[in-house]
Amino acid sequence: MKIAVVGLGGTGSAALRFVAHFGHNAIGYEQFHIGHAHGSSHGESRIIRYTYPDVLFTQMMSDAYKLWFELEKEAEEELLVQCGGLYFGDSNDPQILATERSLIEANLPFERLNAEQVKEKHPAFHLYSNETAIYQKDSGFLRATRCVEANIRLAKKHGAIVHENTKVQEIYTKNNKVFIQSSLGEEEYDRVIVTAGPWMSTLFKSLNLPLVPTRQQIVYLNINDHEGYFQANGTFPVWIDTTDNLYGFPNDGHIAGIKLAFHHCGQVITDVDAERAPVDENYLEEIRSYARKRFPNLGSDVTFSQTCIYTNTPNADFIIDRVNNQPNVFLVSGCSGHGFKFTILLGKIIAMMATDDNGYERNLDRFKLSSFHKILNKFSDD
Ligand SMILES: Cc1cc2nc3c(=O)[nH]c(=O)nc-3n(C[C@H](O)[C@H](O)[C@H](O)COP(=O)(O)OP(=O)(O)OC[C@H]3O[C@@H](n4cnc5c(N)ncnc54)[C@H](O)[C@@H]3O)c2cc1C
Repeated sequence: MKIAVVGLGGTGSAALRFVAHFGHNAIGYEQFHIGHAHGSSHGESRIIRYTYPDVLFTQMMSDAYKLWFELEKEAEEELLVQCGGLYFGDSNDPQILATERSLIEANLPFERLNAEQVKEKHPAFHLYSNETAIYQKDSGFLRATRCVEANIRLAKKHGAIVHENTKVQEIYTKNNKVFIQSSLGEEEYDRVIVTAGPWMSTLFKSLNLPLVPTRQQIVYLNINDHEGYFQANGTFPVWIDTTDNLYGFPNDGHIAGIKLAFHHCGQVITDVDAERAPVDENYLEEIRSYARKRFPNLGSDVTFSQTCIYTNTPNADFIIDRVNNQPNVFLVSGCSGHGFKFTILLGKIIAMMATDDNGYERNLDRFKLSSFHKILNKFSDD
């Protein structure tokens, strides 16, 4: 079959590679260059972890990890750094308790640490006596831009064609065929996969997709002393603070200092094509103030900062579905600020669906568009 993939970020680059790998005629469209910084999949690091309060996500990560290892092997470069992960918060936090249950149900190893034990093993962290941590050794980070580039390189090796700097203007169906209108003209396909991230709603205005893009900010702060405390050799794991809703990384080996960010949704973006303002001063201050209490050896100098987009669904579930009145058009989106670690799996699942392979073993009904419409109707009824 001749199959197009529209949007080559994390999900689309993986989908293109799988479509090509399955032996189909794969053609990718990307409105910017591969690895650009205007969407959601750029940068040095994205957390990868099994630690989710929702067991389906934990189970799906078992599938995703295998695919990342395969990609890394095939690409012959480091894409995943397994430096361990700390998931911490108040001892009675229901999220921590649910995460522990998910790990037990999925039969994955972990340790429960109190504040003193965290200090002993990971001396850069300061936890309070009312806090607890789950340590999971398989957590770490993915080198995001490199993952996208590796997928594209390998997709091409398997025969895919990539049109960079080519914006798709319209996707429509006529007589069971799908047509793509872009600056290259009109092109006919058997199937089209759309993985356009924050631009999904622009391409499917009439579908009223349950997606809200938000502007997110990340900051790197310098290390004042004890550089060794912040290294990705197991001393400084990736971390998520469930109370203050922040997360962060060890030194990634490329940018000085360490990266921290708030996970809560930023400002809603009404025009995804508009130029985005640089990181706000008050955001920097909030990050510095958090770092002072949590990481006494960090400094307050910003070594790097960047903005990025979350594409959020109301419950942070993904959308994985085909379009109702266009059955040859397949969608994946709604990665909701936690989806990079899943992109390789989402890319494989949508490539399987688009090639009539129903072999993915898990029940993904909750990711169908109709589930979101039920949630939204419930909200409007309440
Ligand atoms: C600051 C930040 C931190 C994050 N941290 C984590 C983390 O630690 N762990 C984690 O797992 N996830 C994390 N995420 C989430 C994760 O990065 C995203 O969910 C994921 O990258 C989304 O990938 P995507 O392929 O769906 O979208 P995108 O990466 O946005 O890709 C969509 C692509 O489609 C292209 N496109 C759109 N419209 C068109 C068109 N009309 N024609 C051609 N091309 C088009 C765009 O240019 C873009 O390249 C984070 C996100 C942000 C912003």
